[in-house]
Amino acid sequence: MIKAGYSLPALILFSEPLFDSGGTAGPDPDSLVKAVDGKGKNCVVSEKYPQQRLPVNTSKKLYIETFGCQMNVNDSETMVTLLKDLDYETTDSAAKADLILLNTCCIRAKAEQKVYSELGRLKSLKNGGRKVLLGVGGCIAQQEGEKLLKRVPYLDLVFGTHSLHLLPDMVRAAEKGERLTRNDFLDPESRVDLFPRKDTAGGVARFVNVIQGCDNFCSYCIVPYVRGREISRRSSEILQEILELSEAGVKEVTLLGQNVNSYGMKSPEEPSFAELLHMVAAIDGIERIRFTTSHPKDMSQALIDCFAQLPKLCSHIHLPAQSGSDKVLKAMNRGYTRREYLERIAALKKARPDITVTGDMIVGFPGETEEDYNETRSLMEEVGYADLFSFVFSARPETAAAKLHDDLTRKEKQERLDRLQKRQHIMTRERNNALQGTIQEVLVEGVSRRGDQLFGRTSGNRIVNITADHSLIGKIVTVRIAEAFQNSLLGELV
Ligand code: SF4
Repeated sequence: MIKAGYSLPALILFSEPLFDSGGTAGPDPDSLVKAVDGKGKNCVVSEKYPQQRLPVNTSKKLYIETFGCQMNVNDSETMVTLLKDLDYETTDSAAKADLILLNTCCIRAKAEQKVYSELGRLKSLKNGGRKVLLGVGGCIAQQEGEKLLKRVPYLDLVFGTHSLHLLPDMVRAAEKGERLTRNDFLDPESRVDLFPRKDTAGGVARFVNVIQGCDNFCSYCIVPYVRGREISRRSSEILQEILELSEAGVKEVTLLGQNVNSYGMKSPEEPSFAELLHMVAAIDGIERIRFTTSHPKDMSQALIDCFAQLPKLCSHIHLPAQSGSDKVLKAMNRGYTRREYLERIAALKKARPDITVTGDMIVGFPGETEEDYNETRSLMEEVGYADLFSFVFSARPETAAAKLHDDLTRKEKQERLDRLQKRQHIMTRERNNALQGTIQEVLVEGVSRRGDQLFGRTSGNRIVNITADHSLIGKIVTVRIAEAFQNSLLGELV
């Protein structure tokens, strides 16, 4: 679970000077009266300066909990931007919030259960005597809609993945006491017009959404049912957003979507994903580019060549294999074989010899034998993943795999997962150890969780903590890796 939101500029506080008083003392606070500006936002007017509308800190507090993938993190950032116009500013405490939003995920049953238990926990805040609005967005909202509002009587609003643009109006209605749901799917034309924009201020490394939805229908995956069909965002909008981000000081962008590799395939007027990467690389100020998630079947040679041609493209690829067995890959409807997957990996390593590869793996898919599982294990070894996100198969409603006969017990599946994760744990540590003593370029992104160090990432996406001056945030620095840990590295400036 990720508590979303980067900090946004605070509105002017009453206690601060309200406006230039021409060398005299500021206005007498008693002479200030509340008003509404031309955009319907709260402000104050001084009797002495009636022509001036001054923003005030009447802001309400917004708390967002984000479950699931980077797409949800990206959507939560959009919610923060959209609700800024209604005077909401983020807080990291649910207890202080006027509006609590859960941005949900239903990719696995466990993710869904977490949301319901969180809703249970938040009930006491709703009953606490203070007015608090509670909303659910994201994939569960899309899937459940009205049913969710009925099931959770203290819920105020439910908004699906295609209804993000409606959120401000929904919150306004909820503030007036309405309980409401929006989870209709939009048609492709409306969707391309409604790609949500985010505030471009703030941060060193930011996500930029380039494609939404998915047409692949992998047999285990619920995404096409809750995110809709694939649609590419207009390249002109993408480039404009990245230009604005670079002007705001952002140094790294991650182009984001369920399957970025198929960007533009359904829109002949748009460039291919490889061409888009070249366009992004031409933007001054952007020093690093990443993208996620990639589908192996759509990993074109032109895209692989980008790793040889574009120095700004980071040395990392997240390429989910999901299984190493051809039989299971077919049952998963993945559209590639083990050999084809390994050929893509070999081509990527040829284009960028130091590339870091990470992936996703599912074990215990219906019909997976010990032999199939061992093929997954041998694929892991052959690729040499730096990290692997691995899960036990979770049957999701509506998906084809949910109807397959499954004779493995939960215990057997878990045991396979444990063995795989244990081995990956060792491989990750070995890869980190191998970086000890090397010189790395690190983009410094901010202050580490411990608070006494800065953190950044190598081009290969490894986290590095450094003791350094805060003025280095936003800069690419050269470090020597002094020590390796399981999940991070310790760097020294050189
Ligand atoms: S490519 Fe497959 S796993 Fe990925 S979002 Fe689409 S259907 Fe799901």
